[in-house]
Amino acid sequence: MKIFNLSKTYKLSKNQTAPALKGISFELPERGMVFILGRSGSGKSTLLNILSGLDGFDGGDVIFEGKSFKEFTDADRNAYRNGCCGFVFQEYNLIPELTVGENVALALELQGKKHAEKSARSALADVGLEDYYCRKPATLSGGQKQRVAIARAIVKQPKIIFADEPTGALDQGTGRDILQLLKNLSRERLVVVVSHDREFANEFGDRIIELADGKIAGDSSPATESRTENSEHKVNAPECGLPIKHALKIGCRNFLKHPLRFVTAIILSVAAFSFLGLSLNIAAFDSAKVYTDTLYNTGAQFVSIHRYHSFVPDIEGSGIIFDSIVGVPITDDDEIKVEREQFADIENVSARSAAAVYNCNISRFQRRVADMNYVLKIIRQDDFDDCLQFSAYGFAECSEQFLKEAGYELTGRLPLDDREIAIPECILNLFIIGGLTEDGEVYKIADAEDIIGHKLPIEQITPTGSSNDIAEMTIVGVVDTHCGHGCFKGTIENCEHMHEKLFVCSGYIEAKGLNAYAMISLPEDRGAMQRLAEFVFDSHSQTDHYELTAEGMEDFEFADLYAYVIKNAGYYLSTIFFIFAILFMGNFIAASVRGQLKQFGILRATGASFKDCAKIYLVGALIIAVIVFILCAALLPVILHYINIFISATSNFNYTLLSLNYLPYIVLPLAAIVSALAGSLPALLKYGKQTPAEIIRKGQIK
Ligand code: ADP
Ligand code: MG
Repeated sequence: MKIFNLSKTYKLSKNQTAPALKGISFELPERGMVFILGRSGSGKSTLLNILSGLDGFDGGDVIFEGKSFKEFTDADRNAYRNGCCGFVFQEYNLIPELTVGENVALALELQGKKHAEKSARSALADVGLEDYYCRKPATLSGGQKQRVAIARAIVKQPKIIFADEPTGALDQGTGRDILQLLKNLSRERLVVVVSHDREFANEFGDRIIELADGKIAGDSSPATESRTENSEHKVNAPECGLPIKHALKIGCRNFLKHPLRFVTAIILSVAAFSFLGLSLNIAAFDSAKVYTDTLYNTGAQFVSIHRYHSFVPDIEGSGIIFDSIVGVPITDDDEIKVEREQFADIENVSARSAAAVYNCNISRFQRRVADMNYVLKIIRQDDFDDCLQFSAYGFAECSEQFLKEAGYELTGRLPLDDREIAIPECILNLFIIGGLTEDGEVYKIADAEDIIGHKLPIEQITPTGSSNDIAEMTIVGVVDTHCGHGCFKGTIENCEHMHEKLFVCSGYIEAKGLNAYAMISLPEDRGAMQRLAEFVFDSHSQTDHYELTAEGMEDFEFADLYAYVIKNAGYYLSTIFFIFAILFMGNFIAASVRGQLKQFGILRATGASFKDCAKIYLVGALIIAVIVFILCAALLPVILHYINIFISATSNFNYTLLSLNYLPYIVLPLAAIVSALAGSLPALLKYGKQTPAEIIRKGQIK
């Protein structure tokens, strides 16, 4: 190795410089122990760092095996560091996360060599530490650590070992042992030792080069054998590659080194990511899905489809009223009938049979009860108000298929013309208790069969209300609607069931000039229900629209007006939390990378390429990303569940407003990966450009 007129000046600031080497020339032999001696600040470390490829220089040149350092490519430099040099630092610079053996083997693994473990064991045996393979560096004494560092340097069988004050941190006796070890190694290779200890240099050095103020102040045997330089040796560039296993191990432990910071960062990231997931769910707000989920969650049995004519009310003097949030005119509406072809549409979309229903009070037939006093007595005694009605509420035209889908049993048959009716079980119960009078005769009714064939007086309903016109209609069937106890609590407000309907023939409602609406029993297939809800919400026009109602559910106002607002709020929130999430996690990862600078430098000094180091930090960052994503993915449904519960508990609003959507599961991993990259890439790119010596120095200052 030849050194020509080598110089290096450190830049302290813009106009302040510190010259460290001022034109140094000498030649180094192929083997032997060379000491570089000098006071602190004389430039010894600078020189050693340059010779070992850890740092750059400004002037002059170094020729190694016929090749100029100036001509080295990045790959050449990695290969030179990894393949030709071993470096022993004063502070050992072992990687604390790896075991002793792994520290030694790493150098070989970086070269992609197999049998790294075997070689590492033999190198450890050479320094007298064969039993320490599985120990952690932290459990060793200083002398033992330095032996491990030497084992790491010799495991690659390097041509040169560079040692920068290898005994500086050791006591006299241990220091002598280390130097003896290096002396033994120098029989087969060149060992360059930096020291300020003249005694040791005299004892062990084959040659002593003295530095003072960046210049050579003395050389004990400057005339060294001249090397043949015709061999245009190529510096072997073995394919470097850090095994993912090690990258994982180092990457993970990096984070676990500060458990409190790790946990805090995870909690903050999970919080930010959960809010992001939440806002994404809000952004994915889907009226049809909300309505459908609510139907099933509230245990509704039927859903009704009404139709309305909408118009902008002409409020005298005040003009048109605009909705304060969305800014569209508020419309008023009149219920209109669901037409036959619309019934067909509803049946097609929902794959259910639809009943035509009209709600009104029909209250004349109870005067046919034979013994009303007995009925009243029974009611008082037994609190018997659950399966008993004095009046019916509304007409229903339905098919047997509808009854089957609703799970109802029919005794007899459904009416075929406008003089026939089928009654619900609760009206039958009234006559079972009180008996039935017809044409002055009293009949005992024991079951559904007994009442079939009898007549009941049914008042004729007109669009303006009931008339005094009464028609006797023959009972042809009884529908068992399984009305349980309490099913008539709040009967009139919640008429979205069949317990108290009178079943009439097809076309009856229309013939009376009444506006029927459609009712289906809830499909088993939620998808069918959601399609129906979509169909209903999408069918809005300027002049008319549908509306869905179900037992126990308030009017659904979101469909047209507020879905828009909610969705947009969701998008804005998502953007904000996306930024937050990335900031939190990115910042944590960036801090971890900065905290691991020294490792980065050691790895680079051992010959790891920039790619290898990047692997470690990216793998670590991605692990964090995965943890955060898994926690959020698991938390999100729980959070949504409790928010829904909270909303319905604190308001009269029973909607399942938030339902889990696929959107967060696409965006969350993306955001996690983006923040992992955003956190680690800037630091990686910054330090990737610097020399190992610079990185280690910065790492030590930290
Ligand atoms: P030694 O190892 O002999 O103690 P160094 O090679 O470390 O000496 O330093 C030589 C000179 O270069 C000293 O004056 C020192 O202050 C300066 N120097 C070393 N490293 C840096 C650095 N990173 N930045 C600025 N000046 C430096
Ligand atoms: Mg030094």
